[in-house]
Amino acid sequence: MYGKIKEHLKNELQSIKDAGLYKNERVIVSPQDAVIRLSSGQEVLNFCANNYLGLSNHPELIQAASEALHSHGYGMSSVRFICGTTDLHKILEQKIAGFFGTEDTILYAACFDANGGIFEPLFGEEDAIISDSLNHASIIDGVRLSKAKRFRYNNADMIDLEKQLQLAKEARFRVIVTDGVFSMDGNVAPLDQIHLLAKKYDALVMVDECHSAGVVGDTGRGVTELFNIRGEVDIITGTLGKAFGGALGGFTTGRREIIELLRQRSRPYLFSNSLPPAVVNAGIKMFDMMARTSELQEKLHHNTAYFIAEMTAAGFDIKPSKSAICAVMLYDAKLSQEFAAQLLIEGIYVIGFYYPVVAQGQARIRVQLSAAHQQDHLEKAVSAFKKVGKSLGLIH
Ligand SMILES: *Cc1c(COP(=O)(O)O)cnc(C)c1O
Repeated sequence: MYGKIKEHLKNELQSIKDAGLYKNERVIVSPQDAVIRLSSGQEVLNFCANNYLGLSNHPELIQAASEALHSHGYGMSSVRFICGTTDLHKILEQKIAGFFGTEDTILYAACFDANGGIFEPLFGEEDAIISDSLNHASIIDGVRLSKAKRFRYNNADMIDLEKQLQLAKEARFRVIVTDGVFSMDGNVAPLDQIHLLAKKYDALVMVDECHSAGVVGDTGRGVTELFNIRGEVDIITGTLGKAFGGALGGFTTGRREIIELLRQRSRPYLFSNSLPPAVVNAGIKMFDMMARTSELQEKLHHNTAYFIAEMTAAGFDIKPSKSAICAVMLYDAKLSQEFAAQLLIEGIYVIGFYYPVVAQGQARIRVQLSAAHQQDHLEKAVSAFKKVGKSLGLIH
């Protein structure tokens, strides 16, 4: 039975390799941190994790996780509505709502599930979903699962968004959906303008804050803080897998009735296991930390500004960014791979991205800054970029 499909799969894999698109996974043998050890034995500075606040290996979170292992055990062995809800899950949901200034929160196993389970329960065929062209794959999949009419506007293009809102005028309900920060350029969605257009055309707004929560805004409350519209966005989704400790877990936070209906109807919530207590308790600790101090945001913002200023002064072509993502534009796919390989030899771990992950002719190296980076890490990274940039004839 397997023989025929096996041949087919082998051909498929070969064609991925032939196209140069095969993804290899590098093995890390240390905790995720600013400095990591690879299975080759090499120690490198990590500039490609979503560890924006440097919490992935934070002693207070490890302590909180280990305390919950002893107080609440290892696994929940249940979905939330059967017997998978602990006091910790309820506390974490309220902490998240407090952080974003929203009314209520529902936890998921991942933000992929939060986005996968948001549209189908809320929007039917009479409704319209108006989605940014660069939205995350999980939003695209989630939209596909609903029967609503789909409209797409060019990335952060408000003229196009208005056009789509006019086209969607007849729908019963309209919702505008956007990432807060787009992961490849690091640009922030113009949420102030989106908010105004939503008012003008009577639409809801949903923002996926995966790359912006914890990062954007003076205290890291995300794009709603940056644009001073905290509590005014109807739906926010986010992850505990990036800035917020990096383990796993997703959430939707927003209007009370929306969250209440999701608990009744959202399929990834109803039919998938509850988050383990250790992860939940570390999450509680993390939000307590955020409520206490914005030190990590200050350090992250300082690190990002420093890195971008130094790289720009060195002559690199950097995309404007308001996040902790810095796209070093190289335009050529092969060059991006060569550049990243040489940086790794210099002890700097970054990834070069090219088509189809980014548009044709838009290859780049994506650098992700972290509060875990120390000044000497940043200096070492900039000087490695300069050295490789010179040797490849990109800068003088
Ligand atoms: C990472 C990411 C997700 C998925 O989050 P997980 O919790 O890892 O499933 C969803 N949306 C955006 C914009 C992301 O960057």
